[in-house]
Amino acid sequence: MEEQVVKHGYRGWKQGCRCSVCGRAQADSMARYRERKRQREAPLPVTGGGELEALTLRRIDGLGALSAYGESLASLAMTTARLIDHIGSTGQRQDLMRRSTRDLLSLMKELSAAR
Ligand SMILES: [Zn+2]
Repeated sequence: MEEQVVKHGYRGWKQGCRCSVCGRAQADSMARYRERKRQREAPLPVTGGGELEALTLRRIDGLGALSAYGESLASLAMTTARLIDHIGSTGQRQDLMRRSTRDLLSLMKELSAAR
């Protein structure tokens, strides 16, 4: 079996090689999988009061009166800012950080235009 392995590591493990390099790669891969799973299953925030949430609120207040649509956008922006604060302070749900940041920027941009 081992002579068929071109490159030792995770691929080698999949091909049936059980050398220390392939075993280590498999163990690392499982550890990464468990970490991602742990991240996905961490609870979402229920409390607020973070810095980005406060900043977002000030920015929204600064926009003045909002339409009904604007109010909806503002509510989504606040929830998203709270989530980002939560990720930053707890280190949990890092998997949502990139998307949430993009969402918040997009919501604030749309809010400024829709006001
Ligand atoms: Zn190997």
